[in-house]
Amino acid sequence: MSDLLLKNARLVFPHRGVVDGEIGISGGRIDSVGKDLGRADHEIDLHGALVGPGIVDPHTHLGIYRAAHEDARTESECAVRGGVTTMVTYWRVGEPYTDGLVAYGRAFGEFRERLEGQMHTDYAVNLGMLTRAHLGEVPDLVHRQGVTTLKYFAHYEGRADIGHDLDTGYFFALAEEVARLSPAVPAIRLSVHSEDPYVVREATDREKKAGGNDLEAYRRARPELAEAIAVDRLGEVALATRAPMILPHVSSAIGYARAHEFVARGADLTIETSLHYLTLTTESPAGILAKVNPAVRRAEDVEALWSAVAAGGLGCIGSDHASNLRQEKSELWSAKPAFAGTGLLLPLLFEEGVVRRRLLSPESLWGILAENNARAHGLFPRKGALVPGADADLVVLGKLSEPRRVTVESVHSASDYSPYEGRELHHVPTHTFVRGELVADAEGVRGPGHGAYLHRPLGLD
Ligand SMILES: [Zn+2]
Repeated sequence: MSDLLLKNARLVFPHRGVVDGEIGISGGRIDSVGKDLGRADHEIDLHGALVGPGIVDPHTHLGIYRAAHEDARTESECAVRGGVTTMVTYWRVGEPYTDGLVAYGRAFGEFRERLEGQMHTDYAVNLGMLTRAHLGEVPDLVHRQGVTTLKYFAHYEGRADIGHDLDTGYFFALAEEVARLSPAVPAIRLSVHSEDPYVVREATDREKKAGGNDLEAYRRARPELAEAIAVDRLGEVALATRAPMILPHVSSAIGYARAHEFVARGADLTIETSLHYLTLTTESPAGILAKVNPAVRRAEDVEALWSAVAAGGLGCIGSDHASNLRQEKSELWSAKPAFAGTGLLLPLLFEEGVVRRRLLSPESLWGILAENNARAHGLFPRKGALVPGADADLVVLGKLSEPRRVTVESVHSASDYSPYEGRELHHVPTHTFVRGELVADAEGVRGPGHGAYLHRPLGLD
């Protein structure tokens, strides 16, 4: 007999389909999926709502603008209320995280301690590689710390504070190291922030002199060209070294097209975009509150990215979530980049992709947000799958009788604004379970977080 039975559900099997049925949960895992599973200690009637695996957000930034333990608490609450059950957070040494470019040996343990007991979601960490000394730490981070995604920052090259070791040679060496480890660690991937810093520097100087103060000026300051050049370089290195890579936050039609060419030539490249490149444009009413790197693009790029999503070419979608305040975004050039988005990944993409554009089915959306995101980050099938043995991380998406508009309060981030304010939603998450425990429902978030650090790659046992 199961501990908990979710009855009267429409089960969303990622990439496969939607079937009426029930889910049995025991000891934090899914124990059975099917029809007429019998009785359980507790039962919840879902009245025909969709239920699928919890969403894996592959790209968040905890502790970037606030203390990590505070971000962990408030932003993981934002996440679970939106159906996200696993957050992959990006972290690195150097300002604003640590004094100086210290080794990860000690610093990473301290970061994990700060998140301990605060997280409502389970979490994994992607670490930024910044120095020659960090290269030597890669085997230990991968084998002992369970970190299987590492980041290279093309846009920090040449920056006096953190970029002195970064150049194409360093990137090549890092890719070779990842390739060397990858046969034994199948989930290892190098994630590359792809903006050419020299094009950005030139274009930004020009736009600042011209006095622009809107999203269109910011787009011109970090043009699509910068993404295309960086993708070309990373794609050649990916091909030559055979290192598995992730290209996060692809923002433009040309960036996607270039990346797709390398995939066609045989590069092991997972292409990821972010919620905002599918839902915001330089014309959005949010204005500079929507400042983010890479920059938000024009409507034609948004359309091109949706075509790529519909064609299955854009494997992953994340939020690039960061929490900051409206007062920190009053002027374009000094405004802190990024904003809160993790809790809107599922409801807003369901609205845009399934309801409004009719480009995705529920199973194809969950295929991206649960299965693909979990696979690319070494978490599948413990996460992202509706199968016996998987963690009982589940989200119920309920249909509203009246559409609801996104408000700052409904996002539940510590951030006091949302570039998505006013967006209409017809479906919202009503229940979120992490390892079998109900962590969020209509009454709010339940209990202190019991989110755990995920030592990757995760197997089924
Ligand atoms: Zn990011």
